[in-house]
Amino acid sequence: MSSPRKKAILNAIATSPVRPASCEEKSGEACAVFGRNVFGLSAMRKRLPKDVYRKLAKTIQGGERLNPEIADVVANTMKDWAIERGATHYTHWFHPMTGLTAEKHDAFLSPASDGQVISEFSGKMLISGEPDASSFPSGGIRSTFEARGYTAWDPSVPAFIIDAPYGATLHIPTYFYSYSGEALDRKIPLIRSISALSKQALRILRIFGNRTGKYVRANVGPEQEYFLVDKNLAVLRPDIMLAGRTLIGAFSSKGQEMEDHYFGAIPGRVMSFMQDVEKELVALGIPAKTRHNEVAPGQFEIAPVYEEANIACDHNMLTMNMMRHMAAKHGFICLLHEKPFAGVNGSGKHNNWSISDSDGVNLLNPGKTPQDNAQFLVFLAAVLRAVHKHSVALRIGTVGAGNDHRLGANEAPPAIISVYLGEQLSEVLEHIISGKSAKNKKTGFMEVGVSTLPPLPVDMSDRNRTSPFAFTGNKFEFRAVGSSQSIAPVNIALNAAVACALDDIATELEAAISAGAKLNEALQELLPRLFREHMPIIFNGNGYAASWAKEADRRKLPNYANSVTALEHYSDPEVMNVFLRHGVLSEREILSRQEILLESYAKTMCIEGNVLADMARSLVLPICLDAQIKAGDAVLKTRAVLGDKNAKNEEEHFNLLRSHITALQKETGKLEAAVEKTQEVEGALEQARSARDNILPIMAECRLHADVLERLVEDRLWALPKYAELLWLH
Ligand code: ADP
Ligand code: MG
Repeated sequence: MSSPRKKAILNAIATSPVRPASCEEKSGEACAVFGRNVFGLSAMRKRLPKDVYRKLAKTIQGGERLNPEIADVVANTMKDWAIERGATHYTHWFHPMTGLTAEKHDAFLSPASDGQVISEFSGKMLISGEPDASSFPSGGIRSTFEARGYTAWDPSVPAFIIDAPYGATLHIPTYFYSYSGEALDRKIPLIRSISALSKQALRILRIFGNRTGKYVRANVGPEQEYFLVDKNLAVLRPDIMLAGRTLIGAFSSKGQEMEDHYFGAIPGRVMSFMQDVEKELVALGIPAKTRHNEVAPGQFEIAPVYEEANIACDHNMLTMNMMRHMAAKHGFICLLHEKPFAGVNGSGKHNNWSISDSDGVNLLNPGKTPQDNAQFLVFLAAVLRAVHKHSVALRIGTVGAGNDHRLGANEAPPAIISVYLGEQLSEVLEHIISGKSAKNKKTGFMEVGVSTLPPLPVDMSDRNRTSPFAFTGNKFEFRAVGSSQSIAPVNIALNAAVACALDDIATELEAAISAGAKLNEALQELLPRLFREHMPIIFNGNGYAASWAKEADRRKLPNYANSVTALEHYSDPEVMNVFLRHGVLSEREILSRQEILLESYAKTMCIEGNVLADMARSLVLPICLDAQIKAGDAVLKTRAVLGDKNAKNEEEHFNLLRSHITALQKETGKLEAAVEKTQEVEGALEQARSARDNILPIMAECRLHADVLERLVEDRLWALPKYAELLWLH
């Protein structure tokens, strides 16, 4: 066997579990450790002067503006707290449009007049920063001559400490915006979407007589899937290292068909990795709760307890960072790509979403009284209206070259956005629409008139894994998000769309009531109409079935199967309006995001095309050509010994090899040309289209031949670790 591959396999087998760093801490201590590395409310309460704490808590909990007078005290206290924990540096931590997080560290050092240095961290340093940010994507918002980007402290997410062997760094979550005040990140629009949602939802609560609620917030629990691949093997594969996924690779004879990996016993090395990650997350105040093996071999999942949307989003970014980082320590590479391996499931991220009021009441919980139920039905109607009217905005929240391999590939929900409500709840809606008083055998519903609606059963929903947006009892689960993606875009779209729907509903109800109608009368009139209008978005059937695409078309539900097609519609007036209406994104921000996402798509495809071409030329073809010479020799030798007519088998093998080698050579040339051509195309949309239409199909052709060749060439000569090794050695 080719020696580097063999060595890597032997090393992978010999690697034993690494003891998690904090192993000495006994189990059951999670509560004591929880949040140890964050400067959260409890650390603030202990350390800050009472009046300062009270002011800051108001900002954090009530969303009030930060009082700049307290900034110096907070900064100084935060610095002392961090230094006690070994911090030498601080950084503003933000989310540029790269889809990753960004940080630039500064030491807590300032020159003193006597030529010495003192440790310093002022309120100004805490509140604002100005990283030289000219190299982040801005989609035309910043040209390099006005490159300044600014960071501003987001006190609603606690600052946290990331440790390193020679000193820790205090991380301060921040917004990132341009000189002209436009959002360059995903946090700003997320916060704007949350306040839009809050404002409109409060109008509904007021209509229902709630006078005390101060705000409504979105809660999110993201379930995160990922793959682990042994590092010894991964480093031999340029596709894994540079593209985060395999671009070639013959399928392993055993994949997930036995369903023996899902929820199986967690391998020892993986378990140590998970425990290490969880310990760190818990110390960072991230409530990591669930871990298990996923469907594909080598695939796993981590899920936290849900949190407020802005915090959940930051925490999910941190979780992904931590997993990538910790994997190296345990001899793995953590793949967050949506489709690392062809032929087995890819990875997604289930965005569990609900809304609750300032008393913590979940507004998507069917209530116990008719009054509560009526309110629940109004919020349900709003969500249905939001998803029906604004499904394109939601679809755009899931775009990305990686996620295109998943959506609609019969392992993830289709690119058609629909809502799964389950049989029982759908039946309730049908009764409301028809206005009939009906007795449901199963659930015992008697009256559907809102005023007399009896309690709805709590666990009304069944499971349907094929729906992109499923109601699961008291929350919606949006399943089309890709595993590598930030959850911000989807939540921005969801909050903005629901805010629009609530606005419509509140406006109507307010008008009816001020015209003298009773609330119940207004609801009796409104709800059946709304449910009827938005019935087409409900689909409880099998989202993988081919017939669904036809049916969805009949219902006029958009089906934008790939990212480029979806992104084209970002600038449609009705899509832009979802974001413009409550100031979640400005027109310039939308257009810049559209451009960034299209560019990122094209760049990803060009990188993948180049990596594949390089691999074909330097790792696949040389070995295949050697094999071809050997096969040719075999033909000649056999002919010499047995006669010209008796070398059929050898000739067949030679011809097969040769035909695929010739084809791979030809396709590789075409691929290189396609990448070059795409790079020369002007305009983000045209370039992305070129990438999709030219690079993607040729990559598939190359792969076809490379994968046949992998099977034809003697195993010990093959240089690239194979699927069986990548998927099964843990
Ligand atoms: P599964 O969908 O795998 O059965 P669960 O439904 O128990 O798992 O939870 C999945 C995720 O949904 C978890 O992160 C959980 O905290 C989150 N979740 C539970 N309730 C809510 C809620 N009301 N709002 C938002 N997320 C929630
Ligand atoms: Mg779930």
